[in-house]
Amino acid sequence: MATPKDYGPSDYGFDATRAVLVFGLGESGLAVVRALRAAGVLVWAWDDKMVPLPDDLLDVRLVPPAQVDWPQVQALVKAPGILPVATLVQAAEAEGVPVLGELDLLWRREKDSGAVWLGVTGTNGKSTVTALLAHVLQAAGKTAVAGGNLGVAGLALPRVGKDGFYVLELSSYMLDMQRELAVDGGIWLNLTPDHLARHGTMAAYYSAKARLFGTAKPDATLVVGEASLLAGCFGRLVDEGVTQPVQVARGLPEGAPALHNLPGPHNAQNVACAYALLVPRWLDAAVFWQGVQSFRPLPHRLQEVAMVHGVRLVNDSKATNGDSAVPALRSYPHIYWICGGQAKTDGLGATVEALEAVRGVFTVGQSGPDFAAELRAKGLPVTECGTLDVAVRAAFDAAVAEGLPGATVLLSPAAASWDQFASFAHRGEAFIQAVQAVEAKIEAGA
Ligand code: ADP
Repeated sequence: MATPKDYGPSDYGFDATRAVLVFGLGESGLAVVRALRAAGVLVWAWDDKMVPLPDDLLDVRLVPPAQVDWPQVQALVKAPGILPVATLVQAAEAEGVPVLGELDLLWRREKDSGAVWLGVTGTNGKSTVTALLAHVLQAAGKTAVAGGNLGVAGLALPRVGKDGFYVLELSSYMLDMQRELAVDGGIWLNLTPDHLARHGTMAAYYSAKARLFGTAKPDATLVVGEASLLAGCFGRLVDEGVTQPVQVARGLPEGAPALHNLPGPHNAQNVACAYALLVPRWLDAAVFWQGVQSFRPLPHRLQEVAMVHGVRLVNDSKATNGDSAVPALRSYPHIYWICGGQAKTDGLGATVEALEAVRGVFTVGQSGPDFAAELRAKGLPVTECGTLDVAVRAAFDAAVAEGLPGATVLLSPAAASWDQFASFAHRGEAFIQAVQAVEAKIEAGA
């Protein structure tokens, strides 16, 4: 198996004489710098924020936009977060210098390796489906790695070799600039208004997502989670250059076992898409189901944290906008709902049409008072709690007092975390700690 040291500039489609300019030095940008340098490519780098470089990269040449000697640059590799209108990107395009995404480099290096390329996109559920695909393939004895938008940058992934699988989570930002990557299989889960600030219109957002299919191989297996993605008010796949047949995964196929580890109709949809992609081309149905049953959900997405006195406590901190909290509200029979944080533009979104199972609301964070007012107007009992520890205790006590079967304390905030936490993961950890505090008090008889 080749190690990164064995690669040369030509493996990435570069020559050894001119530079590659890496723009954006976050995790994926640094992975690009490391991989290219290891291959003997001359690397220049820039980030508008003057982030300190890690120790092993202190000698990388930083080139401010105004000082770029464009004839010496053979490509610009851009981090996904950087807008296409950024000065440096525009300058590269004006100079005729190709602008690439990080995954294009992985693709260039590995496209002839015999590996299978799977891509997942959508507004919600990408990480879950990406992790599920990789898990099911691994459980079936295949070599499979997951990366892209999910955690590990593509160039930091281990090499899978012939018949191994690259399972890539692709955000619309990444797809927007993907030029070369051509998948063997792709899933497009859904599309709801999010990231509109970046894409401007739903039609542009649709086009960005559709690139996954538009650039796929001619024999690619393509799956959508909703029929409206084929042709709806925002665009049509045929107009995006998609000529392959596209399957619509509608609900679980017959013979599906009960999926206690993946609750809710949205997860049924996620599993249905994974099935449509993998079975029968890459896996037998029986092997697929075996793998699904041993999948453990990612943390902070409908993660069951504990069961205390018959009350289930669930961490869905990843639900950072109104629409993404809807699936959680549809996944349990009796819900004591903890919500609030830094509201997104959709506010409570479609949650207000999914309140049937909600027995009580416990608000936290900046949007707490607004959410409280709106949900009270819907006739729900609301307790304004301010902070997560107070809310967990109050919700748990209410659940115990009512004693309903299947009672669930659910953190599904319908808002971003930045008002009180560093990230949704940090918020989820705080929830888990608050649950542990409740458990400890109960054990101590308090
Ligand atoms: P992403 O990576 O696209 O943000 P995740 O898998 O991390 O997606 O899930 C994010 C949130 O979206 C979770 O709160 C989850 O409950 C919800 N979700 C997961 N799958 C779906 C789906 N198919 N449709 C709608 N919402 C979903």
